[in-house]
Amino acid sequence: MTTFKSKHPHTFDLPRRINRLGELAYNLWWTWNPLAQRLFNRIDNNLWESVNHNPILFLHKIERRLLNAAAQDANYLSIYDTVFTMFDNYIQRKDTWYATQHPKNDGQIAYFSMEFGLHETLPIYSGGLGVLAGDHLKETSDLGLPLIGVGLLYTEGYFSQRISEDGWQETSNNPLNFDNLPPARVLKEDGSELTLQVDFPNGPVTARIWELRIGRTPLYLLDTNIDANDPTVRQLTTRLYWSDINLRVMQEILLGIGGVRALRALGYSPTVWHMNEGHAAFMTLERARELVKAGKTFEEAINETRTHNVFTTHTPVPAGNDEFPLWLVDKYLANLWPELGLTRDQFIDLARHQQNWGETFSMPVLALKFSDGRNGVSELHGMVSRRMWKNLWPEKSINDVPITYITNGVHSQTWMARRIRNLYDKYFGEDWLEHIDDFEMWEKIEAIPPQELWAVRSHLKRKLVFYMQERTRERWMKGGYHPVQVVAAGGLLDPYVLTIGFGRRFATYKRAGLALSEFERMLKIVNQPNRPVQIIFAGKAHPADEPGKMLIQEVYRKVKKAESGGRLVFLEDYDMNIARYLVQGVDVWMNTPRRPNEASGTSGMKAALNGALNFSVLDGWWREAYNGDNGWAIGPDADLDSNVQDSADAESLYDTLENEIIPLYYTGRDANDVPVKWVQRVKESMRTITPQFSTRRMVKEYTERLYMPAMEKNGKKK
Ligand SMILES: *Cc1c(COP(=O)(O)O)cnc(C)c1O
Repeated sequence: MTTFKSKHPHTFDLPRRINRLGELAYNLWWTWNPLAQRLFNRIDNNLWESVNHNPILFLHKIERRLLNAAAQDANYLSIYDTVFTMFDNYIQRKDTWYATQHPKNDGQIAYFSMEFGLHETLPIYSGGLGVLAGDHLKETSDLGLPLIGVGLLYTEGYFSQRISEDGWQETSNNPLNFDNLPPARVLKEDGSELTLQVDFPNGPVTARIWELRIGRTPLYLLDTNIDANDPTVRQLTTRLYWSDINLRVMQEILLGIGGVRALRALGYSPTVWHMNEGHAAFMTLERARELVKAGKTFEEAINETRTHNVFTTHTPVPAGNDEFPLWLVDKYLANLWPELGLTRDQFIDLARHQQNWGETFSMPVLALKFSDGRNGVSELHGMVSRRMWKNLWPEKSINDVPITYITNGVHSQTWMARRIRNLYDKYFGEDWLEHIDDFEMWEKIEAIPPQELWAVRSHLKRKLVFYMQERTRERWMKGGYHPVQVVAAGGLLDPYVLTIGFGRRFATYKRAGLALSEFERMLKIVNQPNRPVQIIFAGKAHPADEPGKMLIQEVYRKVKKAESGGRLVFLEDYDMNIARYLVQGVDVWMNTPRRPNEASGTSGMKAALNGALNFSVLDGWWREAYNGDNGWAIGPDADLDSNVQDSADAESLYDTLENEIIPLYYTGRDANDVPVKWVQRVKESMRTITPQFSTRRMVKEYTERLYMPAMEKNGKKK
């Protein structure tokens, strides 16, 4: 392939001995390596926190005096040399898992997603879908998969959230400064920007391409926010998920069609094309169009490409399954059907979806029909998806609908606290990270003395509480904060109390209010002398989701009541940074979706690998993970009618909390005040959950079950 340069706007002026810090800042590898983070925070921890863990901004702001001192400090230099040995070995490594398993394969995999959650400084994600995509890329880098990510670069990112005194979500969008962020524009030999064009009704639109390095894996991000485009078009890549359907369909055309063209412009020809959710499904048509242009019929083209397409569906909830009215398709895609050799009706038929309110063009239908690899993201979600899409395979029984499942996982190194890693270094042996999905290795967890594990857990909880108090202090000092908000934001939290976390998008099916539904009973629980409990809520609602915003308000109004004693808390502006503090610091991670709407969920996996216990509805991943001894279930393993379910789940939640969780935490302490039975449960949870619900296991499964079959198939469908 042709080579292109990617250009960073600045280089740094660094002391020669430590000048590779600049290189490190531009490869997201540092985000999952605590020792690499030490290279920044050891120089000036205050600055590191105040720049929100952004190494590029850090290097722009750091005082030269401190850099010079670091370059003279033998301890610092020893860490520096270790980190760069690790980094170089990592990037150059030849005997990766993939290279060992599939030595003869030189095909590449393209991975398209509307959002990527890689780090808090690059807010181009809104929630679990994006974080999963980010974790997927980090793992493909670790495993050595020849995968290329494709997405959009949102120049304002996702919004920041503030909560008013009355509990109303206020949003602000701030332009990101790409001088201080790791994506770099891709340039041609002559120094001009590499661009591509996509056709819209008012003429062609130009997009430029940015490159981001995630270890070994490249991610290309498209951006239309440039002078050559008209103002409407420029908006396409300012924010995630416009609610205006015109902008929404244009964003998806840009991702699906523009994404394929970007890869072509860069010189790639991937063999496997993976759509992470239906947003990217126009990709199937662009790939067919390429072959039609080369002389094939549409039939031939679509059959040939279909065998190489993989589609992952992520939710049964309608808001997550985009479909467009037919007039919108007429407006934006009329230029495409002649290029495919189709009439308008034939084109609509590709993704026609009959709803009781009319016909639509459905993105998941398009993706399902034109991919041979199809999966849901947990066992239950696989079953739900087969039922949901059965009408596309009228001749098959529900069980035979060709949608399989691969349960989600998390990138363990991204989410695991440094102190927990240190424990494993000590008790598992040096190369435990290489074997993170090896169940047998996890038997070694019994070797960790309960007291040591408990000391780490207590440390992480203190860290969470102090962090929340510090944030609250800063917020208070900025002014405009009512004193009650100081309490509601965590000003009165206690680092020695049983602490429950609930952090996720405030979509109504997640029922954030369930734990407060019998409020008087909950007040008794949180304020019980000698056995108090704290609950920390956090999460954003999509700005157009009125019921979601009302749910935040309902929770906030209860949280701020004096009777809550400051033990019920709402933490503003949930993002990957807060998620890390929460999943590492709480004792219990609670999830209360209305089953079976939580396709998988992943935050509970992050909590488990840090030693928090899950307390959740048997939906998504937790239905597979729960074994009776590694956490607690809310409600039965059955689908109930939603009204019955709400009250049954609330009863189960209160009951389990009062009779099992609280007593286990506060009683049976040994001479060192360690709750030994609790710690035993924590070990059982870490042992059973960490290896199974890791992206290590997940990406290996995608490779063997979906990527390799799509790689090996040649042309014609059987
Ligand atoms: C992991 C994560 C999620 C996913 O939450 P679930 O409710 O478990 O799906 C959402 N947002 C952020 C910031 C996360 O880190």
